[in-house]
Amino acid sequence: MSKAQANQEVAKIIERAINISKPKPELSKKLIKKAKRIAMHHHMKIPEEYKNTFCKKCFTIFNSKNSKIRIKNKLKTITCLSCNFKQRKRL
Ligand SMILES: [Zn+2]
Repeated sequence: MSKAQANQEVAKIIERAINISKPKPELSKKLIKKAKRIAMHHHMKIPEEYKNTFCKKCFTIFNSKNSKIRIKNKLKTITCLSCNFKQRKRL
């Protein structure tokens, strides 16, 4: 698998995980883990557009019910309500 292919594969898996996160949250977590594994194997990062779609710690796909978003001092903080992990992003 080339790097470009791996990149596509990672995006595809995350896309799928997001789609099934509501009916099958456990399966979506597994998919995120798989995507991370592929990304790590190819020494690449999770694409920027997907970085804030799931919790880095427990791999829960965020929705309005399981996450809290706060914006303060040009810093966006997403709190995962299932494990309480906070991830921050500079705006
Ligand atoms: Zn979490």
